[in-house]
Amino acid sequence: MTSMTLWSHLATRALAGDAPTRDEALAVLNAPDDELLPLLEAAFRVRREYHGRDVRIHVLQNAKLGACPEDCGFCSQSSRYDSGVGRSKLQTAEEIIAGAKQAAEMGAVKYCIVTATRGPSERDLDVICGAVEQIKAEYNINICTSLGLLKEGQAERLKAAGVTRFNHNLESSREFFREVVTSHTWDDRVGTVQRAKAAGLEACCGGIMGMGESLDDRVALAFSLRELEVESIPVNFLDPRPGTPMGDQPRMSPAECLKTLAMVRFVNPTRDIRIAGGREVNLRSMQALALYPANSLFVEGYLTTPGAGAEADLQMIRDAGFSIAELVMA
Ligand code: SF4
Repeated sequence: MTSMTLWSHLATRALAGDAPTRDEALAVLNAPDDELLPLLEAAFRVRREYHGRDVRIHVLQNAKLGACPEDCGFCSQSSRYDSGVGRSKLQTAEEIIAGAKQAAEMGAVKYCIVTATRGPSERDLDVICGAVEQIKAEYNINICTSLGLLKEGQAERLKAAGVTRFNHNLESSREFFREVVTSHTWDDRVGTVQRAKAAGLEACCGGIMGMGESLDDRVALAFSLRELEVESIPVNFLDPRPGTPMGDQPRMSPAECLKTLAMVRFVNPTRDIRIAGGREVNLRSMQALALYPANSLFVEGYLTTPGAGAEADLQMIRDAGFSIAELVMA
C-alpha cells in the first residue's frame, strides 16, 4: 500500500470507528512532508463527518497563578523553578464570574477555570462552586474546571455546582511521564480522570508534544486517551518557558504539529480535538491548516502566555472557511 492509500484507508477505518494499528499511527508521524496535504485531507474526512466545519471556541481563566508545589518540568507555575511568572491567590468568585461574562460575550462554548495546585482544597471548592452556580444562573456557557488531582467526593461537588467537564491531562505516555514529573504519577492522573468520569463529568484530557518524547510516546498517549474514552483532547505543543527544565527544548516544526494532530484524529475519530497551548509559536503561519484535523481551539491566550487575540483567531477561522460552533448547553 502506498502512503497516500494508507491515509485514505485510515480515514475509512476511522469512519467505521476502528483505530489504526500503532505502526500505522507511527507511519502518520513519519509521513514525508510531500504528503502533508493528502494526509490532512484524509484526517479532514474524519473531522468533517463528526464535527462538520464547526470550530469550538474555549476560553481559559487562570484563577490561581503560580506557586504550585508540583514539579512538572514544562510548567512555569511550579514553585520549584525560577520562571519569574509570579503568584496569586485564588481569584474571588466575582473575578471568576467576570471572566465567564467576557467568554460568553465572545461566543465561547466553554469557560475553563484553572488553578495551579496539586489539587483543590475544600475552601477553593467553596469559592469555585459558588462562582459556577452563579455563572450557570446568569450566562449561557458551559463550565470546565482544571484544578489538579481530585480527592474522593470533590468531583461530585463540582458536578452538583453545574460543572460539565473536568480537565486533567496525562501529559505524555506513562513511560515518558517519569522524565517530566516526579511529584505525582501518571497513574495518579488516570485516577483523577476516572474519578471525574465516575461522577458524571465529561473528561478533557490530553497532553503536551515536543517535551523530548519519542514518536512512540506520542502514539502511546493517543491510544491511552482512546482507552480512557475521554470526550475532549487538548493537544499542546511545548512553548519552552525560561527557567523551567525544558526551557531550552527546541520547538516543533509546523509540519510535525500537523502530522501529530492527524494521528490523534485517526486514533480518536469522534472526539473534540483542541489545538491548545503553543499553537501560535509552533504552527506559526500554518495554524489554519490545523483546523483540518482539529475542531477546537483556545482564544485569548493560555495560562501564562498571550495568544493572537480573539479577533485574529475568529478571522482565521472564517478565512479558512470554517464556522464558529454554536453553544449547546450541557
Ligand atoms: S500540577 Fe499543574 S500547575 Fe502544578 S506544576 Fe504541574 S502542570 Fe504546573
